[in-house]
Amino acid sequence: MAKIIVTGAAGFIGSHFVETLLQQGEEVIGIDEFNDYYDPMLKRKNIAHLHQSPGFTLIEGDMQFLDWQKLLKDVDIVYHQAAQAGVRASWGKAFRGYTERNINATQVLLEAAKDAKHLKRLVFASSSSIYGDAETLPTHERICPKPVSPYGITKLAAEFLCELYHKNFGVPCVSLRYFTVYGPKQRPDMAFHKFFKSILQDEAIPIYGDGQQTREFTFVSDIIAANLAAASTPEAVGEIFNIGGGSRVILAEVLDTIEEIVGKSIKRNHIEKAMGDARHTAADVSKAKKILGYQPQVSLREGLIQEWEWVKSLY
Ligand code: NAD
Repeated sequence: MAKIIVTGAAGFIGSHFVETLLQQGEEVIGIDEFNDYYDPMLKRKNIAHLHQSPGFTLIEGDMQFLDWQKLLKDVDIVYHQAAQAGVRASWGKAFRGYTERNINATQVLLEAAKDAKHLKRLVFASSSSIYGDAETLPTHERICPKPVSPYGITKLAAEFLCELYHKNFGVPCVSLRYFTVYGPKQRPDMAFHKFFKSILQDEAIPIYGDGQQTREFTFVSDIIAANLAAASTPEAVGEIFNIGGGSRVILAEVLDTIEEIVGKSIKRNHIEKAMGDARHTAADVSKAKKILGYQPQVSLREGLIQEWEWVKSLY
């Protein structure tokens, strides 16, 4: 049995981690500050059913101010998911929250990890946002990152910090660049959650721009599987991997699939393109396939059905 820390444990992706790891019989320390970027009650709900698990401890607090040396003493793996997410909200005054939660919080963790003799792996949740409007699609890891949002800049900075602490102090970091993640518990500011909620409430769904933007969508269980492989594959240490869902789709076409799933036609409300959104994203996952044995398992249709069922149970 391993002792594992999940930061951002009550969030969308973090809560799936905690659930999977507890099912596997691991001892899990979850850390979350339950900030109000979105309704903290949703986060409490995400992990409510896990509190009775004997292997689970929840630490409520801002990871910037925790005693990490003590926390990491006998920990084997850290899955670092805590962050201030959201590209569109990262402009203006909000940027301070992004630097604190994405850069400073990561640096504090890495400083303590330097001296954590027991630590075997620190897996960092990076993002496809670091690429911005990439010149090559699908995008491979060697392309020069050019974020188009302040959020992307903070994720890139944190990724570079992981690399520095690996090179200089041997911290066993791996960075995974997630491409748009979806599934049950998805954040309420994310597209599919907003779409399904609008459909339930019989409102028009908001679409940024002309709807011709393409996205690589990744189901949350594929993200978890990639992380587990990154934590257990020796060759992964010091590396960066794209993690995508295996298919790139035009947003307008996803809406057709959604119509089929919900069984009714949906009203669309085109709104102005948002600053910070990349026009297209597509992942070249050949490195993850080769080194991590990564193979996305969940098709977009299958994943959307699961998210729709969850949204219906929520509202
Ligand atoms: P989320 O907002 O649902 O979860 C993040 C959690 O971290 C929240 O519960 C929040 O309260 C917590 N948190 C933030 N700062 C903290 C701090 N300083 N101390 C303690 N807790 C803190 O977001 P998510 O969508 O689950 O994203 C998880 C990770 O994946 C993030 O690092 C994000 O940048 C990355 N990512 C997500 C996506 C996606 O499509 N969802 C894509 C690429 C990368």
